[in-house]
Amino acid sequence: MKDSIKVCIRLRPTSAMEQANGDEVVVHQLRDNTLSVTTGEGKPNLECAYGSVLGTDCGQEDVFKAVVGTVEGVADGINGCIFTYGQTGAGKTYTMLGSGVGKHDGVTARSVKMLFEHLKKNSAASAEGGDEARFSVHCSFLQIYNERLHDLLVGGGEGNGAGLNIREHKNRRSGKPEVFVSGLSEYRVTSLDDVLTLIDAGSKSRALRSTDMNDVSSRSHAVLQLSVEAESVGEDFSVLKRAKLSLVDLAGSEKMSTKNNISRGHKNELTNINSSLSTLGNVMAALGDKSRTHVPYRDSKLTRLLQDSLGGNTKTTVICCVSPCSSAVDETTSTLKFADRARRV
Ligand code: ADP
Ligand code: MG
Repeated sequence: MKDSIKVCIRLRPTSAMEQANGDEVVVHQLRDNTLSVTTGEGKPNLECAYGSVLGTDCGQEDVFKAVVGTVEGVADGINGCIFTYGQTGAGKTYTMLGSGVGKHDGVTARSVKMLFEHLKKNSAASAEGGDEARFSVHCSFLQIYNERLHDLLVGGGEGNGAGLNIREHKNRRSGKPEVFVSGLSEYRVTSLDDVLTLIDAGSKSRALRSTDMNDVSSRSHAVLQLSVEAESVGEDFSVLKRAKLSLVDLAGSEKMSTKNNISRGHKNELTNINSSLSTLGNVMAALGDKSRTHVPYRDSKLTRLLQDSLGGNTKTTVICCVSPCSSAVDETTSTLKFADRARRV
């Protein structure tokens, strides 16, 4: 089966702040899959087409429809990744987690809900045939900050669960190499509520790590992983399907500011973010280019961690989030360039 990477653009509505500042709207949706961007005086306007554009009138349910294939794949034993990419404030976390309950539920809650529904349905279908079906789902939640992995579900505060290592082993049953994080906590979950409880706990521990005014959450990648095993057992057969769903809220993609005086630590952080995001772009570009045999997974912790979920028999959806306003136009242009590169798959 061919690997598939789907790239969507999500254009968020103008925020109250942007409205108050009289920030001009410069990004418009022309057609279902086309955006136009007025880049500034004397500069050419951009018009670009993507797999799909989720415009300002698209709600969370519409966004979920764009990622549904990846989630269904996981229920069927195919590894999947969903990423949100974009500058800070563009709508990544809103897209992934949503805000409030009900209609604002983001991709995560909707995906988990669907995953459990699929697994239960398959399980019931097997049981009807006189067979017994079992499944288990395990959840982990980590962040990658400054090219270091931190377990967000480990108790005990600062220092614990930091600097974990990525390792590889051969799966005993399938014989395929698998990437795992040594010492990472994993919890068995049986419902959406279980997962939301872990996300709450992890998000609190994430906030605790922001020691100064700098918002660590916007400068780290948050990776929620669900490992699914579903087994159908009959009288003389047993089928085991295993797959991982990775939901990744990426660090803000904004470029290093040359205007402000920034500390060396901060500069180092931004360099790490920029380099891991560009490695992600390089990996996707390499996967799309059949003439390239080398995929640079090992160039960043993020791509190394997701190595067995990117490329090969996997399904990835990247949602690139952008603001419609003039003040963000340079970052918007750079996000669209990333999308352009990633979609040549
Ligand atoms: P990021 O995670 O990329 O930094 P956020 O998801 O936190 O950005 O979004 C910034 C603000 O904009 C939040 O207050 C969020 O609720 C709001 N927002 C983002 N996208 C949308 C959207 N599509 N519709 C309504 N509000 C949104
Ligand atoms: Mg965010």
